[in-house]
Amino acid sequence: MEKGESTRSVHAAMDPEQVTGSVQPPIFQTSTYVQEDFSVHKGYEYARSQNPTREALEKAMAELESPNSPATGICFSSGMAAITAVSQLLSSGDHIIACDDLYGGTVRLFDQVLARYGIETTYSKLSPGDLEKVAQQNTKVLWLESPTNPLLSIHDIKKLASQAKARGWIVVVDNTFASPVLQRPLDLGADIVLHSTTKYIGGHSDVVGGCVVIRDEQLIERLKFLQNAAGAIPGPFDCFLTLRGIRTLALRMERHCDNAEQITERLSKRAEVTRILYPGLASHPNHHVAASQMRRFGGMISIELEGGEMAARKFAAALKLFLTAESLGGVESLINHPWTMTHAAIPEQQRRDAGMTPGLVRLSVGIEDVEDLWTDIVQALQASSQ
Ligand SMILES: *Cc1c(COP(=O)(O)O)cnc(C)c1O
Repeated sequence: MEKGESTRSVHAAMDPEQVTGSVQPPIFQTSTYVQEDFSVHKGYEYARSQNPTREALEKAMAELESPNSPATGICFSSGMAAITAVSQLLSSGDHIIACDDLYGGTVRLFDQVLARYGIETTYSKLSPGDLEKVAQQNTKVLWLESPTNPLLSIHDIKKLASQAKARGWIVVVDNTFASPVLQRPLDLGADIVLHSTTKYIGGHSDVVGGCVVIRDEQLIERLKFLQNAAGAIPGPFDCFLTLRGIRTLALRMERHCDNAEQITERLSKRAEVTRILYPGLASHPNHHVAASQMRRFGGMISIELEGGEMAARKFAAALKLFLTAESLGGVESLINHPWTMTHAAIPEQQRRDAGMTPGLVRLSVGIEDVEDLWTDIVQALQASSQ
């Protein structure tokens, strides 16, 4: 029987170290390893290519994303470095189809970097029938986020993955918003699952990192090659911190979900709030899909306030526990203004087309006591309407 989420988080890649029996993996802070003779070594040559602390994190990520089938984790220095490595599977002349509500940095990479190398991206709402319309001869990848950032849209990963794979495309799912505790895209048919481990996985806003997890042997080989060839590896201390975060991942996710559910329910009764985007609400257009592919609905909420951008600014300024900052998924609550912060790099029309507005704020609900968070929100809502 599959073990529970908390047990798996605590025990992921927990192999006592050989020499001392150290329960947690030591930080192997080295750039190279001694060889007995030319090219005679213990499998460790140079730390860009191999590092035991990194391997422990990679194993843990694979165990979390794929508990029932063998898989491999491959870690990078940031989420964007992981995304860049995946994009390097493509060649000039290839085409990507991506959902239209995507992390701003991913859009910037696709449109301002990959485009210069002759790799073109089409963004789509991916509503039924859309895939046929945007498919091209040279399409190679379907790139999904679910829930999306910042609009918390839900894509039916299983359905889209099977349609894409029937055409021979590689299906990539950025699972940063859900974490493997809430959603496991490989089980839904994705080929590559990807994380900014900076967010929920690390969970303490003290480290930047990225990871992919893959089952397909050929893709594993190619991504491992790219990790070493392009070289955007995480340092051993960063890997240690990320693994330390993983120990409490399941526990934290439950609390993030508890708090976000409470807060959305209460927000839905407030006159100051005109729009609430949260996949856990029965009113969410794809709530049933979210319920079928996620264990729970996560800690991210986006809202619009009566009074638009001005109200949003007053709301953020009045909040005391929710800090105004980029990023998400840490123990502390954060508020973000996608229009001017995380998604500012996307051209305005593209933002509007995706459904983003200047009045939208995104909350990353932390693991504080929910009554304290709610008290903070109520006073800020009052301030926002004055
Ligand atoms: C933050 C984020 C990224 C980028 O990760 P970094 O670690 O900041 O490089 C990619 N995708 C999503 C959904 C994110 O939230």
